[in-house]
Amino acid sequence: MEDVLMKCIICRIKKTTDCFNDEHVIPDSLGGYYHINTVCKDCNSELGMKVDSPLVNHKLSQLYRFGEEIAGKSGKVPNPFAGTFVGKDSPDKKARLDIGSSGTLELYQLPSTSWGERDGKLQLRVSVDPKDEGKIDQILTKTLARNNISANSVVKSYKEFDLDQSEYTISWPIDTLQFKIGLLKIAYEFAVDTLPEYFEDYAAIRISEILRDAQYDKVLDYVKIGNGLEDKIWNPFNQYLDLESRKHYLLLANGDTMGLVCLIKLHDHFAVGVVLSPKCYLKEGKMFLGINSLESQSFIKLTGEEMLNQCLRMTHGRPVYALDPNCRDEAIAEIENPNYRYDGQDNKRDIFPLYNKRGEFICYFHDAISQKRIEARQDGNKHINVMWLDERRAYFLKAVNTGKLYRILAYEIVQEQVRKL
Ligand SMILES: [Zn+2]
Repeated sequence: MEDVLMKCIICRIKKTTDCFNDEHVIPDSLGGYYHINTVCKDCNSELGMKVDSPLVNHKLSQLYRFGEEIAGKSGKVPNPFAGTFVGKDSPDKKARLDIGSSGTLELYQLPSTSWGERDGKLQLRVSVDPKDEGKIDQILTKTLARNNISANSVVKSYKEFDLDQSEYTISWPIDTLQFKIGLLKIAYEFAVDTLPEYFEDYAAIRISEILRDAQYDKVLDYVKIGNGLEDKIWNPFNQYLDLESRKHYLLLANGDTMGLVCLIKLHDHFAVGVVLSPKCYLKEGKMFLGINSLESQSFIKLTGEEMLNQCLRMTHGRPVYALDPNCRDEAIAEIENPNYRYDGQDNKRDIFPLYNKRGEFICYFHDAISQKRIEARQDGNKHINVMWLDERRAYFLKAVNTGKLYRILAYEIVQEQVRKL
């Protein structure tokens, strides 16, 4: 049997199929359900260590995983608040935020001691978290011993209970660069998986090298849109996508002047645009959308058209007429009569025959319009599209009952927004 060779999309080396395994385009630990099988095992494990990890271990990812309760390989949800917090007004006070058994955050105050003076006597103050009440004597003995003070010289001791209302602070280094290589990988893999011809693009070859060798300093050559954390680059899609939801979105489209662009939005935390190539690979107005849902634990890929069809419901469509002024009233009376039908009216929305003024068939409406002559506007949750015919030619509709011809200029479709994806 002949072994089938397949090219890895990262190292671009041809290998036998058993050298490949499941590559998670959006990392598992971010709740990703989009898998491909065109990355070889060697590259896959390298990507995991060098490309995915700055993204997965980013402070914002940790916060996200905590919020979504996504456990890591150890089975534990990482604690994004790990580290020592310091009292804002009293730097000797320290605390930790632990994840309690029920998954909630619990403040744990680390034991602290402080010396002071009261009524001319030396005072030692030991403060502990309520959980550590039993340890007070032990801490006291140790502190006294460390300061060479005999336990016998203690003249008075008392306990105080107070509610700790001090503020604690901690500072985290936030990576603003390295995590973007993880986003570059997502964009590249989505593009190669969706548009196979993009794989041989010069920029695609460069990106696969950047990913293969984890060249963090070259990432910004491609990850150019947005600072990585602001999702306003997604605003144009706000009406179709539920940008407040727990979903991750990927979008492949032609940027106005930029060529092939992939926008990425990982929940509320990361949003970025990657310029994948100066060349456009999609026809005008075409795009691909990837939706990763944590709720339905799935990843779906839709075309722009499918997105619109799922979001909008047709309410009505009607021809826009240019009526002859000489017999205008008569024409209006016929067209507005509830029994009026034009030829092809019951066909699929814009597929009806057009005639010339002698009543001879020219073509179907849908074949007579071009994308450029579609005018789109919005009115509340209504989306109105007017498809204009070439005004240099006279097109007519034919009334079914009377056979009369009425000149048509355009066809208007009104759709209503019914859902967001
Ligand atoms: Zn490889």
